[in-house]
This record gives sequence, C-alpha cells and structure tokens, in this order.
Amino acid sequence: TKHFAVRRNARDLLARTRRTVHAVDDASLQLRRGTVTALVGESGSGKSTVARLLAQLYPLTSGEIHLNGQPVKAGRGRSFRSYVRRVQLIFQDPFASLNPVHTVRYHLTRSLKIHGRAGSGEAELEQNLTALLNRVQLTPPHQYLDKFPHELSGGQRQRVAIARALGADPQVLLADEPVSMLDVSIRLGVLNLLKDLKDRLHLAILYITHDIASARYFADTTLVMYAGRIVEGGDSETVTQRPAHPYTQLLIASAPHPDRQAAGDEPEDQGTGEPPSLIDPPAGCRFHPRCPKAMERCRTELPPRFDLADGQWAACWLYDGTGTARTDDHEKEA
Ligand code: SF4
Ligand code: MG
Repeated sequence: TKHFAVRRNARDLLARTRRTVHAVDDASLQLRRGTVTALVGESGSGKSTVARLLAQLYPLTSGEIHLNGQPVKAGRGRSFRSYVRRVQLIFQDPFASLNPVHTVRYHLTRSLKIHGRAGSGEAELEQNLTALLNRVQLTPPHQYLDKFPHELSGGQRQRVAIARALGADPQVLLADEPVSMLDVSIRLGVLNLLKDLKDRLHLAILYITHDIASARYFADTTLVMYAGRIVEGGDSETVTQRPAHPYTQLLIASAPHPDRQAAGDEPEDQGTGEPPSLIDPPAGCRFHPRCPKAMERCRTELPPRFDLADGQWAACWLYDGTGTARTDDHEKEA
C-alpha cells in the first residue's frame, strides 16, 4: 500500500526562540491514501508542528519521512521537489493564506504554473481553472474567478485555498484546523468537501483539530497528541467511544456539548489544569501532573505504546499487563 510516514523522535526548532524546544517528540504516524487521519489535541500540544514538519516548513532534527515507501531527503533534488508538490498544507485562517491584492484567478493560475499544470495556451488554462473551482464546488466558476478574497465568505475563501492546493495534484493534504475559524453553520460543508475529495482523488488527509467530536464524524483513524507526543491511536469510532488513555478520556469529558457549540458558546478547557510547557516537560508520563489515575512509576518512567484490541493502542502504564508493549518502535529518544 502507498503510505506516508514520519518516524519517531521528530523534533524541531520553534521559530523565534533561541532555545531548542522539543515541540514534537515521538510522533510516529502513518497516513494512508483514501483515508482521513485526525490528529487531536489542545493548543500547544504540537499538532500544528507535526503538519509543518510533514510539509517540510520546519527541518526535522531527527527522524525521517517516507512517501510511497521512499525516504524523503530535505534540501534539493527532484524527489524533494516532487514531495513538496505531493504534500500540500491547508491553513486555519483563509484570510491570512490568500493575498488580498490578488484575485482567485491569480492564486489558482500561480499554483497551476508553479506545478507545471497550467496547460498550453489560454483555453487550456481556463479549462483547468474551471475544473479546480468545480472540484471545490464554487459554481458557476466564472462567478468566482475574478473575485478578490474580501469579496468571498470565509467558507468560500477556504474552498479557494483548497483549490489552490489541488492545483499541485497532491497525494496528501495536511489540513490544520481547516474549519475552526469558520462559522459553525458552514463547517460541515467544508469537511464534507474534503471527504469527497479524499474519495474522488484518493487523497491521504491529516485533519488537525482540537475538536475530538469532529474527528469521530470526519476521520477514519484518530490520533491523540499530548505535550508533543502521540498518546493514543485507533479507529475513530473506538477511540471516541472507548477512549483508553486518561488524557483522551479527559478530552471527551470536556468536549463542548453540540447544543452549546451551535449557540457559539464553546467552553475552553473544562479539564483539570493546563498542558505543560514543552521547554521543560514533566518526566515520566508527561500527563502525570494532570492524570487522575497516575501511579508512582508514571512520575519517572515514560510509558511505551501498548497495543489493545481492534488496532487501538495507548501509551499509558494502565495497560502494562493487559496490552502488549511495542518494543519494535520504541527505541530510546535520541
Ligand atoms: Fe496517567 Fe500514568 Fe497513564 Fe500517564 S501513564 S496517563 S500518568 S496512568
Ligand atoms: Mg495550531
């Protein structure tokens, strides 16, 4: 199967600090084409950093990335250029990602040209532009092509950003909170569009979100991130209905109620305490200061990933004895 993986111990230098911050550590994950993988966590958990590492916006200081089974080397060369084309990032804020002085036509033409997909001649370019807008359901396309970003709604702008990413003919879309800045009433429409594109274009989608309820609806697989580490994974139904890791349980317990969410009244952090600083994360299990089930060993020993039933796993000492520790992918931190 074609797959896309980043190996553990991916670390990165956070911009604008002089200190090395291990924002992401042990974030081994695999994305499959034709599926959506949700990466869920609070702000500051490192989930956006994972997307930026995968998009090669930040350098990996250790670990590796594979695309279609081939390791990807940063820098230059044909394989790197092809990687950057195949793996496209969609940002949270469609206002910030589109240049306000340029039209939709400009943004999409530029994407097609950069990726050598503009075609030969005006007529073919026009056809390709129309096809991109049809793909993201901005129809009829001629009504949108010559509009500026400020003439579009937030949802329409996000669709243009998605169309621009599709201009590269990607295999992987990294969608970093793609609907969290949009009106609640149009979020579902944009998620459904991404779902449709995943099926029709056979894309692997990484859906980054703080909203675990949307992961259940939208993603095949759900991964939960805490303080720079992925602490639980499995199919979305299992992880959201039978969360194994105490942090996932806390996330679900403090998730906004759908009715309150519809009223635009989303409570922030009803859980116990705040996520830790990544500059000096707690020893042992990083969740231990907030964990209601913490044991003595949790303070000093880092829990490995334990395999549970049905493909679910959790990095938590509660499963030592009931789960199977994965020795293969749990080597020492570099
Ligand atoms: Fe809680 Fe210990 Fe499990 Fe960490 S390893 S989540 S502290 S029980
Ligand atoms: Mg973020």
